[in-house]
Amino acid sequence: MSELTTLTIAAARDGLKQKKFSAAELAAAHVDAIEKARTLNAFVLETPQRAAAMSKAADARLAAGTAGPLEGIPLAIKDMFCTEGVRTTACSHILDNFVPTYESTVSGQLWRDGAVLLGKTNNDEFAMGSSNETSFMGAVTSPWRRRGSNTPLVPGGSSGGSAAAVSAHLALAATGTDTGGSIRQPAAFTGIVGIKPTYGRCSRWGIVAFASSLDQAGPFTRTVRDGAIMLRSMAGYDPKDTTSVDIAVPDYEAAVGKSIKGKRIGIPKEYRVDGMSAEIDKLWDQGRAWLEAAGAEIVEVSLPHTKYALPAYYIVAPAEASSNLARYDGVRYGLRLPGRDINGMYENTRAGGFGKEVRRRIMIGTYVLSAGYYDAYYLRAQKVRTLIKKDFEDCFDQGIDAMLTPATPSAAFGVGEKGGADPIEMYLNDVFTVTVNMAGLPGISVPAGLDGQGLPLGLQLIGRPFDEETLFSLGQVIEDAAGRFTPARWWA
Ligand code: GLN
Repeated sequence: MSELTTLTIAAARDGLKQKKFSAAELAAAHVDAIEKARTLNAFVLETPQRAAAMSKAADARLAAGTAGPLEGIPLAIKDMFCTEGVRTTACSHILDNFVPTYESTVSGQLWRDGAVLLGKTNNDEFAMGSSNETSFMGAVTSPWRRRGSNTPLVPGGSSGGSAAAVSAHLALAATGTDTGGSIRQPAAFTGIVGIKPTYGRCSRWGIVAFASSLDQAGPFTRTVRDGAIMLRSMAGYDPKDTTSVDIAVPDYEAAVGKSIKGKRIGIPKEYRVDGMSAEIDKLWDQGRAWLEAAGAEIVEVSLPHTKYALPAYYIVAPAEASSNLARYDGVRYGLRLPGRDINGMYENTRAGGFGKEVRRRIMIGTYVLSAGYYDAYYLRAQKVRTLIKKDFEDCFDQGIDAMLTPATPSAAFGVGEKGGADPIEMYLNDVFTVTVNMAGLPGISVPAGLDGQGLPLGLQLIGRPFDEETLFSLGQVIEDAAGRFTPARWWA
């Protein structure tokens, strides 16, 4: 029943209601697909027994007429989300065998609405990366390949496992976290939809913290409509997260297919960066033409502080990470490596438990927060952040409803191809996405075409705070024009 794995959430929802198949069958088809796709390394933990039990319970609720909005929908959960009784490691050695005794608010809301857990997906260690190569559990191989080539490609990161799973039809949808682009960039690399909601829209409670002022949870789906369905369940006020915002969650699905006539779309000129490929440029023009044809008005805008976003992000994010990761000391949970005394134990545990990229971030973060450098680096980066936010506010004040930009400066690259000698090469991937986290805005990445080598490319839409609805309306226009993208299956 492999066709069950090709359904959208919307179609699966209808099929379950009409009893065309059961939730148990839907879950089993996915469990089977996951087993056959182990070569992708998208999952770090498969939970087939839980999937069977949860889908059986979903079938009972469907029969009783008490089904929730996601009843029986099989999902993959990024390993950054704590799942009660299910190992959660953030793909770090330091969290070896950590089994949370609580559930993250966001995943809890998905189960509340009837969804089914298939397993935990691979990510860059502590979500630090853009290729999923920093994971302690090994790299993820993208389901996509360049035409006529067997070179393994990265699925993007940090939510590489979630993106690969949804793209390869191993789950109907997945969760991700996005601190600087970790949902939108892998979505673009794998030809699917990824949404980073407004900061404060989804609770961060129970998500392993990377950079708390930037982290947001969001969904990966194969269609814009499915993204809207997922976000409705994931979003909402949570008193356990003090940065969560108490605004009613709209029916996002109602915004899908809504006319975009008269919407004013900003094209920020600073996003035409040096060295950007001609194909990306062409795609951007194409996106603009699609929105225009649907009745939107295109306006050239300026976000003058864009060039400072990446350097400022790589100060703010490591600073917060160095503080958040101070809690991993080998005392209460996770890895413990013995030492001559307690300090020796801390040192050995942290040196042995954190990977190279995480150690680099902790050192950068500690440096920029240290007494002598705080003003020069951290404080300045925070000021830059305020200016970046103000750039967007100025545009929105002038009546701009959303911005259209490319999602990434290139298509997916090969495993091992980038960042080996110079980490900045990898950091440059985030050039179009970090501004959105710095400003706390919502962003969506929608697949918009294939490059000359047959790899997917995405367009990004950036919205006003808490106006995800406009992004869904605009995103649907792009999806309607561009179509959908599925990788040719080369794995078993
Ligand atoms: N690639 C960025 C980083 O490495 C963003 C990661 C993320 O969004 N979690 O920090």
